[in-house]
Amino acid sequence: MGCTIGIDLGTTNSCMAISEGGNAVVIQTGEGPRVMPSVVAFTPAGDRLVGIVAKRQAITNPKDTVTSIKRLMGRKYEELEKETFNVSYDIIPNDKGDAVVRISDGRTFTPQEISSMILQKMKYRAEEFLGEEVTDVVVTVPAHFNEIQRKATKAACTIAGLNVKRVLNEPTAAALAFTDAVERRKIAVFDFGGGTFDISILQVVNGIFEVKATTGNTQLGGDDFDARLVDWIMNEFKRSKGIDLSDDPVAPQRVREAAERAKCELSTALETSINLPFIASSDIGPVHLEMSITRGLFEGLVRDLVESTKPLCEQVMEDAGLTHDDLETVVLVGGSTRIPLVRKLVEETFHQEPVHSVNPDEVVAMGAAIAGSVVSGQRKDLVLLDVTSLTLGVETLGGIMAPIIEKNSPLPIKRSKMFTTAVDNQQVVGIHVLQGERTLAEENRSLARFELVGISPAPRGVPRIEVSFSIDANGILFVNAKDAVTGKHQEMKVNPSGGLSDEDIRRLIQDARQNRETDRDRIKLIEVRNIADQSIYEASKLLNSSRDRLDADSTGELEAALQELRTARDGSSIDAVEGAMKEISMVMHTVRNILNMVDSMEEEDSSGGIATLDVSEE
Ligand code: AMP
Repeated sequence: MGCTIGIDLGTTNSCMAISEGGNAVVIQTGEGPRVMPSVVAFTPAGDRLVGIVAKRQAITNPKDTVTSIKRLMGRKYEELEKETFNVSYDIIPNDKGDAVVRISDGRTFTPQEISSMILQKMKYRAEEFLGEEVTDVVVTVPAHFNEIQRKATKAACTIAGLNVKRVLNEPTAAALAFTDAVERRKIAVFDFGGGTFDISILQVVNGIFEVKATTGNTQLGGDDFDARLVDWIMNEFKRSKGIDLSDDPVAPQRVREAAERAKCELSTALETSINLPFIASSDIGPVHLEMSITRGLFEGLVRDLVESTKPLCEQVMEDAGLTHDDLETVVLVGGSTRIPLVRKLVEETFHQEPVHSVNPDEVVAMGAAIAGSVVSGQRKDLVLLDVTSLTLGVETLGGIMAPIIEKNSPLPIKRSKMFTTAVDNQQVVGIHVLQGERTLAEENRSLARFELVGISPAPRGVPRIEVSFSIDANGILFVNAKDAVTGKHQEMKVNPSGGLSDEDIRRLIQDARQNRETDRDRIKLIEVRNIADQSIYEASKLLNSSRDRLDADSTGELEAALQELRTARDGSSIDAVEGAMKEISMVMHTVRNILNMVDSMEEEDSSGGIATLDVSEE
């Protein structure tokens, strides 16, 4: 049986892990770091880049580099209009009103498709790592994700050729990675990533994990800290140099990258500097951006954002019926929890020091891998209970929402409520499924609408219509409406794809399958080209530094190998690039040996021509 991998599909970075002998092991992304940037780019040459290679070229290709796609998953375009997005690509509504990405050649991609490209690359990596095909996956989502966002995530996995065994809440995953099955604990998971903040309280009793309560802010994360720092840097620059960088096509992205780097450095250093040469030009020539930033200044810029998490922490404790004395452990998740000000706030809010023993970037993927071993039956000592993050209900007369399943109810769950008609002889009732905590229906999220027809004519208030909601362990909602008199009923699975029809998904899976081999080869070619670039750089350096000490034959050989590698690098044959790299590495080895000999001969010459022979007498 193949293994089930755990994937944390993050806003900024994604990470994956497998469970080996009950312990979670992070799978390297093959790019050095253990996490992969959740970035997809489309190059002018027609290449599709994913991960670190996509992130690296963002500065020169901002319009076609897609970041933070998780924030668009399962979202309507009109919902986004109220939010700020620090992205340079275009977001537009499609014909269903869903938010989609448009790149500069006019092509559009749904967030599910972009996410599937990230997932596909992770799948390849896992297959390379394990030496076998990987299909089963446990994928994590923020606890506050609604049904549509969960289904969009599932659809992204399906398009990437992955079979979702479980959609798991991120805090549950974090607790799983951290806690031993036999422990009895109450845990707070404080998750502060690039785009979102989540706080959850979990209870673990004899291997059963239950999310007692969860809340958060979907519009708050490390990106907002970066934005504050970017504003400050731009204003400072304008004040001191009189130049506004905001209209420049490239400068804002350079400042954004530098700001993020400075922010990360300030987590360990008290002061850092930003140096961006040639950021602008003026009458007297190029202008450079150079400034230093202290941790104190940064903290001043973001303090209100960090402090805005405190009331949410207090609310979730209240929802879970706990005081801080009841909490045994506070776990930190997400890159932004490395910021000292955030750690201080956590300590003050929960009256205890959070645990530092788990890596905040990897803990969710590790927990997902452990959940994978639970769902595949390898581990039998754990049980996972997730809860609904928001209340689900239907719209009733006067636009009021009638709750059917309250938030924080353990999954799977089934609940029913009786309704009746509003007018005499009403033969059709509209069932409008809603999610949210507001009393007014229109202020909640509309998940689906359908009609129950054929109700037997009767005065208003007489028919009995039973509406049942059931949510399976993956958080997928099924709604059933039944006329108790006629037995007529109507059922629907709430849009299984988060905006994509089944037909769309089938087509996308087919496209992905068809492109599978080409994609795999393309990724390999891009990576091989990257390594080739390094060899070209080293060989050119060697050639330039040694020309005057090498004989014409060796110089010619190195030049020829370099030319061959350059030609292969610009071609499309992986074998040719690899062959040319092998060749150049042999030539470089020989050249270095010759140079060593020349050097030692020169040394001999300078030491009076007396050779020291390494011989021993018999
Ligand atoms: P995540 O979504 O968990 O991958 O977190 C990504 C966010 O964490 C980004 O905003 C990063 O800039 C931020 N981050 C990563 N490392 C650090 C660090 N050392 N200090 C501050 N923020 C960090």
